[in-house]
Amino acid sequence: MEEYSNRVAVITGGSKGIGRAIAFKFAEEKADIVIFHYDPDNSASEQTLKMLKEIGVNVRSFKVDVSNKEEVDSAFNEVFSEFKRIDVLINNAGITKDTLLVRMNEKDWDMVLDINLKGVYNCTHAVLRNMIKQKRGWIVNISSVVGQIGNVGQANYAASKAGIMGFTKSVAKEVAMRGIKVNAVAPGFIDTEMTAKIPEKVKDEFLKQIPMGRLGTPEEVAEVVYWLCSKSASYVTGQVIHVNGGMYM
Ligand code: NAD
Repeated sequence: MEEYSNRVAVITGGSKGIGRAIAFKFAEEKADIVIFHYDPDNSASEQTLKMLKEIGVNVRSFKVDVSNKEEVDSAFNEVFSEFKRIDVLINNAGITKDTLLVRMNEKDWDMVLDINLKGVYNCTHAVLRNMIKQKRGWIVNISSVVGQIGNVGQANYAASKAGIMGFTKSVAKEVAMRGIKVNAVAPGFIDTEMTAKIPEKVKDEFLKQIPMGRLGTPEEVAEVVYWLCSKSASYVTGQVIHVNGGMYM
């Protein structure tokens, strides 16, 4: 299709998991790719970069903490000066710090909200003015089924992911007339490092709640993210698209 030839896509949390699958999907469609990550070591991002280069697209990786507005602004300034434009922003970076609320300390509350929700504000704020000037842009925010239905031990995570849904709808309304589409994707349980941390017993319980009886793959999420940024979804904005094997309907 190569609908994305000469376009630039920034994917936060693009070094692994869902973000990496999204980066590959856009690279296959010939977009230039910029990934942000904040892994303690650079091995995942270096490997992702190498594989993306093999596809033959321009790629850059930045180690940037999305919760830090200064770091985010300076990374985006570099992206703009090198690539001249940003057409697609995928706000995918996210973490969990799970525990029951009675045991949840302020640090773990703040950290999850700062990365998962303020990070979405920081990155969106950094690109929006330019997208308005371009009169074109696509923003997809990665929420979660947990933001819709809640989950024991994830009050901080659920609040951040529900916040993303409200943020998405508000910004979508603000920029709909400017040619910019803002949507969210809410994955269910997807097979990544994040879910690898869940004990097998708990995972088995979750599987019982998924009508399709299996975890999703990062690629299954990436396909929907890509669709939202394609011509096929030209009249879709302000939506939360659930990709969850039927776990929430
Ligand atoms: P992952 O742990 O495999 O990857 C997380 C990515 O986010 C990494 O690239 C990491 O470097 C980056 N990141 C973490 N903190 C960051 C920070 N402060 N600044 C910049 N980047 C940072 O996670 P995943 O499972 O691929 O999840 C990706 C997104 O999808 C997250 O927002 C997550 O909440 C959401 N999600 C995941 C699932 C799932 O089942 N895996 C389900 C629903 C939603």
